[in-house]
This record gives sequence, C-alpha cells and structure tokens, in this order.
Amino acid sequence: MTAPLSVKDFVSGIQGGEISVVENASHIIKEIEKRNPEYNHFNLFDAKNVLQQAERIEKEIKKGRKGKLLGVPVSVKDCICVKGVESRAGAKILSGYKPVFDATAVRKVREEGAIILGKTVQDEFGFGTFSVNVTAGKIPLNPLDKQRSCGGSSGGAAGFTALTQHTHAALAESTGGSIAAPAAFCGVSSITPTYGLVSRYGLMDYASSLDKIGSMGKTIEDASLLLQVISGKDAMDGTSLDSKPFGKENMKGIAIGLPKEFFSAVKNDKLVSEVRKKIDSAKELGAKIVDVSLPLNAEYGIAAYYLIAMSEASTNLAKYCGMRYGFEKPLSGTFNEYFSDVRSEAFGTEAKRRILLGTFARMSGFRDAHYLRAMKARTKLINEFKSAFKKVDLIALPSMPIVAPKFSEIEKLTPLEHYAMDICTVPPNLCGLPHSTIPVGKVKGTDLPSSLMLIADHLQESKLVSFSSALEGLK
Ligand code: GLN
Repeated sequence: MTAPLSVKDFVSGIQGGEISVVENASHIIKEIEKRNPEYNHFNLFDAKNVLQQAERIEKEIKKGRKGKLLGVPVSVKDCICVKGVESRAGAKILSGYKPVFDATAVRKVREEGAIILGKTVQDEFGFGTFSVNVTAGKIPLNPLDKQRSCGGSSGGAAGFTALTQHTHAALAESTGGSIAAPAAFCGVSSITPTYGLVSRYGLMDYASSLDKIGSMGKTIEDASLLLQVISGKDAMDGTSLDSKPFGKENMKGIAIGLPKEFFSAVKNDKLVSEVRKKIDSAKELGAKIVDVSLPLNAEYGIAAYYLIAMSEASTNLAKYCGMRYGFEKPLSGTFNEYFSDVRSEAFGTEAKRRILLGTFARMSGFRDAHYLRAMKARTKLINEFKSAFKKVDLIALPSMPIVAPKFSEIEKLTPLEHYAMDICTVPPNLCGLPHSTIPVGKVKGTDLPSSLMLIADHLQESKLVSFSSALEGLK
C-alpha cells in the first residue's frame, strides 16, 4: 500500500480538480465502517453527516471556495466540542451531551474547508496514559498490535492516525502528555503547542492551567499545517496568545541538548539506542549535540504535576451534577443525595480517585502544604528549563520510557506506577513548553516504534517544527 498524500498535496489535488472531495470522503467512511468495530478508535462516527459535509464543500469548490484544509478529513478528540454532535470527553457522565457550539479549534478547521470525521476515544476527561480509563466508548487497540495500548489519553486519535490509509489529521489534547504518549506508542508524529497558542474555548477542562489542544499526523508537516490553522488569539479565551510562530528556520549550528537524567531514567536500552541514532543523524543538518541537566524536572515533575492536575480537575468536575450536562437520573432526595448518586454511578474509578486526592490537596489547612507548594515547584521547574534554553535551542529525549505496553501488563500497574510512565512527557507540559514527537526506528527485535521528543522554549514553534520536520525527513 502506498502512503497517503500529505495534507498539502491532497489540498492541491482537490484544488486542481484531480481529487473529488465526495469520492475521497466515501473511501475513508468505508475504511472506518470496516475497521472501527475491530479497533474502537472512534466513539462517535456518523457516515451520513460526513458525506453531507463533503457534498457541501464540493459544491462550494465549484463556486471557487479555497482553504488550507479543503476536503481534508479531520478527527476530533472527544473532549473538544463539536456542535450538535455528542461530545463526552470519554466520560459516561456526559452521555447525551450535544454542545450547541463548535470549539474555536473546530470552527477554524471548518473555515479552512476541513471535514469533521467524528469523535475519537480517550481516557475519561484525559485521566490516563493508556486509554484504558474509558467510560464512553470502548478501549482503543493499537493498530501495530491489538494486544497493546494505543497510549493515552488521546488513544483513538493516535490509533486512527496510524491505521488510516487516507489523508487525515487529528485534533488532540494534552494536559500532561496525552498527545505525545499515544503518538509515540502508535508511531505517528505530533505537536503539542506552547500553552495558550491554541484557544481552549470549547475544550472540556481537565486542568485549566495545563490543557492544550494540539495536532497529530502521519508527518510533522501534516500536524503543523493543522496546528497553524487552529492557533492564534481568540476573544473567547483570555489565556490565548496573539502569536503565529510558524516561520521556516535555518538549522545550521542549532544546538540540541540531551538531558542526562532522562536518558538514565529510561531503562529500555534498545529504545534509547534508536532515539540516540536519530539524534546523532542531526549532525547531518549541521546541529551540534551537547549535554544538559534538568535534575529538578526529573525528580519533582511527576509529583508537582499530579498535585496540580488533580486539584484543578477536582474543581472542574464539580459542575457534573446530573442537572446541567449529560447523564441524569430521576430526581429524588436532597440535592446532596442526588449529586452523590449521579456521581457514584457515572464517574469511573480513576475520576473518583482524582476528585478525592485533588479535593484533599486544596482543602483549607492543606492548600499551602500541597497545591501551593506544587505551584512554587512548578516555577522552579520552568526556571530550570529557561536556563537550559540559554545554552541550547532544543532539548531531545525519548518520548516515553517504554514501548506500547500490553493490556495484560497495564492491568498489573498500581496507580503510582501508571503515573510514573509520564516521566518524560510531564515536564514540558507542566512548564507550558511546545514539544513534538517523531517516530524513529523500530525497537530491535520488535515491530514497535521508538519515539523521539523535542522540546523548545515558549513560542519557539518555528524552530521546533522546522527541525523536527528536517529530522523526520532524514532516512
Ligand atoms: N497521563 C497524564 C494524566 O493522567 C496526562 C493526561 C493528559 O495529558 N490528559 O494526567
């Protein structure tokens, strides 16, 4: 099977009249109808709706419509609102919730002519690293090996990006690594932007100071095209930034830092060796490789992240009370009884764990000791990265410490072991730094990809994307 056209070539094919939007949409519909029952990447897919969008765009093209994503099928992670389409953030408690508006990111891709394919499966509200904490939809399976996880929480997005034989890009979301982790396990490319580069309007909150919408594709170029479309200031999100940092940069003399603490934390030597090989090849691009040190991030990243993420999640989830959105029960008892009934029945185990821990961490009397302390630690971790970026342009490390695990292995993990898998992805997320992942070689003796993560300073997406794309192109 030949690789599908890149998003850019696909759009010029559409614009030049060589590709029909409707014909292409019907191919991808067929693929999803055939493969999704086996792999569970989508928890909502409406073929009729996809076809209607394609027919409308085709008519508009005849009248001269242009667009950067003309006719391109885009999948949307379940936590990103799509008007009139059930959007549940992977959570049973949102069953039946149909937003009355599009998230800004969705509105922007539609304005560029994209077709919204459907909602991709994720861990409930993004709580997880393996897409096994799913309460709306079925657990997605890795297209490289069905006994293995797609990663999480954007598991459906990465799984489908890897599986599809057609041009496609995915809108995903990351709080602490939910774009990088699944992209790494499924062998696709991804970009998680600087915090604030993409509007969060219409993104269902996990932890508001950490959540970011980003993109995935078969290549960095595809992911970057989608990211460029969705980024920029939005009046609906006061934290969004007025910036579009997407120029082409010269790679000559670029300095790449290897943080030694993270290389020694990753115990799978075969995985590290593929990452190292790819980094060494960067010399061909004129890059120089130097050692850097991020001891605080390696030591305290996970602890600070989980305190902050759970604290913010526990307040963000308070609105799910069985009265305003989604899941309801027949009214009975006092408000408190009804509230507890609904939440006991509809939240999954991991959501309950996080509500309890998060509420505890920010309770009066404990707030200073836990939540505020974690926020202070976060500032120190940001400063540590800032000093590293005085010496280097980008930081390179393995995206994940393991290859995609088997479900039977995940079952044996305690919650703390599960959280520890985020060692590499948490630091850039906690510090709001843009990062990309690219699949590198297959881990020796397996068919599973190893993945390289590159991290840049705030709003240095131009450098990040130019370099990642150049490196990805090296054979
Ligand atoms: N695995 C991390 C967590 O469970 C990150 C998830 C995410 O980025 N949504 O919080």
